[in-house]
Amino acid sequence: MHDLRELYEEVILDHNRSPRNFGRRPAECNRTAHGHNPLCGDQVEVSMTFRGGVIEDISFSGEGCAISTASASLMTQALKGRSGEEAQSLFDAMHAVLVNDEPPDLERLGKLGALLGVKDFPMRVKCATLPWHTMGAALAGRDTPVTTE
Ligand code: ZN
Repeated sequence: MHDLRELYEEVILDHNRSPRNFGRRPAECNRTAHGHNPLCGDQVEVSMTFRGGVIEDISFSGEGCAISTASASLMTQALKGRSGEEAQSLFDAMHAVLVNDEPPDLERLGKLGALLGVKDFPMRVKCATLPWHTMGAALAGRDTPVTTE
């Protein structure tokens, strides 16, 4: 378990240092949503090209702490090319572990497992879930800003 924790920390640090799919809008972007976590100050904008029920491209921008940045970065990597239903079900799987304290299916979550270490810190859980709630709003075509409070 110790080695896994170190690996997870390395993943978070790496994605915070060089976030993937960051700071650009996808070509033909047709869904965007904003999210805000007032407790920490995280701001995120998630943009995607959603066509034929598939997230063809997804990116994010904004300013946040290491956890929210890494979560958004890992999320965009995990969701590119997935269907809207798959994205929602992956979000549900993350939420079940982080918020409802269910045991994780690490095989299914892959690198997203790196985010699960925050589950013992309720303040940090909001940092990790903010990009996902924002993604859900973008997917649903809601343009009212998402807030964790
Ligand atoms: Zn944060």
